[in-house]
Amino acid sequence: MTAKKPTFAHLSEVQRALNQSAVARECAKPAPLFFGQRDAVHLYPIMRSDTLRNTSTNWRAQPEVLSKARAFMVERLRADSIGDSKVWAAMALLPRHVFLDDAFYLRAYHDDALPIGYGQTISHPSTVARMIALLRSQGELTRVLEIGTGCGYQAALLTLCATHVFSIERIEPLYRLALDNITRVQRFLPRPPQLSFGDGTLGLPNHAPFDGIIIAAAGLSVPQALLQQLRIGGVLVAPVQMGLQKQQVLIKITRLKNDEWQREIIDDAKFVPLLDGTQSESHTGI
Ligand code: SAH
Repeated sequence: MTAKKPTFAHLSEVQRALNQSAVARECAKPAPLFFGQRDAVHLYPIMRSDTLRNTSTNWRAQPEVLSKARAFMVERLRADSIGDSKVWAAMALLPRHVFLDDAFYLRAYHDDALPIGYGQTISHPSTVARMIALLRSQGELTRVLEIGTGCGYQAALLTLCATHVFSIERIEPLYRLALDNITRVQRFLPRPPQLSFGDGTLGLPNHAPFDGIIIAAAGLSVPQALLQQLRIGGVLVAPVQMGLQKQQVLIKITRLKNDEWQREIIDDAKFVPLLDGTQSESHTGI
């Protein structure tokens, strides 16, 4: 009499362990890459805000960690700074580290102004959020002009808050850097900003009028050409240097009529200077 063959073969220990880990993998949900509307603290209770201080890890190879850091930054800014829901959603989406040099990318999600070369800086995220929110106080934005593209971060954010964005930079290598950076983040943008190399104090008369104008550098006054390129009801936001002292204030100007502008002082400010003319490749150095 032959022994009855078992219907099922017994699982080996190894096979059992493999099956268990496959089930565990199946149950673990992948981290979402965008969670602007959700609370990062609840999603990632074990992540500490200073994770990126561990400089022995190449965090660029772990975009989900940078994405969490960005969500934390937006959460902190939302609690402490001025902005609005559209600006916060744009900031949660757009990677800021892509706009920074390798030397600084670990600080991309701190509320810091950081060097971008040629003596210029990327503005604090809190400053950028406040300026865009001030611009949006006049209503939805169709056409926006930025003076001082720098590395292109604010111009890219603006495309998530306005239909057509134009931006001018006076330092040629920075204009090229911004073009490059915009290409690297284009999948996040509905349409790229239109960048140009030139003296922004002249504005872009061929594309005027604008619903909003942001000046990202401080002059002794707001250039008349820019005031003229604002549509009636439009808003201009700019840092202005007070007299010959270094003190600056952020101002909001609303065009009330063809020949009437209303000016409000918003807060103290700290920006690089607004300069006339342009600076080309051959005259610059970091
Ligand atoms: N928008 C940037 C901030 C850049 S810093 C951000 O996203 O963080 C300000 C920039 O203004 C510098 O790059 C500087 O070169 C530029 N700038 C100063 N005067 C200018 C002018 N007249 N026209 C255009 N750009 C100007």
